[in-house]
Amino acid sequence: MIKTKLCKHSKSPTEALRKKCVQLAKRIARALANYTCEYCGKKEPQVRTHGSHIYSEGVHLSMSADVDNILCLCATHHMAAGMWNRADHWSWHNSPAEAMEWFKENYPERYETLKLRARENKMCDLKFWQDKWVELNNKYKGISGNWTIQIFKGLSKNN
Ligand SMILES: [Zn+2]
Repeated sequence: MIKTKLCKHSKSPTEALRKKCVQLAKRIARALANYTCEYCGKKEPQVRTHGSHIYSEGVHLSMSADVDNILCLCATHHMAAGMWNRADHWSWHNSPAEAMEWFKENYPERYETLKLRARENKMCDLKFWQDKWVELNNKYKGISGNWTIQIFKGLSKNN
């Protein structure tokens, strides 16, 4: 089976729904981390936080909306460019090998779980993302007091 490659210009309903799932998964990951950078501990609004994929979205499509595959990192530790080589200026995108090492040390069980999942070769059809969307909405509903039915807009064929 051939893995579907991520196409940035794809306008298919499957890819559109996948992107919505990713957005929601990132929002959940940040809320669960209390909008705090999991590397340096700085919080919003002092810093901006991002959802940062552990296993990359482009290579591991089926994991791209898994909340446990997303870290909450401040903008600096997510993607500061390579102006510095100091340990305190490490960033996820600039130092991927060091980043993974740090992740493995600090989240050993999660690291093993994700590593195994990354070896699976799941089919990501429309049904896969529809199920994921429902799962994520339930998760979001569980953590968010301001949850509204609005979020279901655009999902016409649920149940
Ligand atoms: Zn940080």
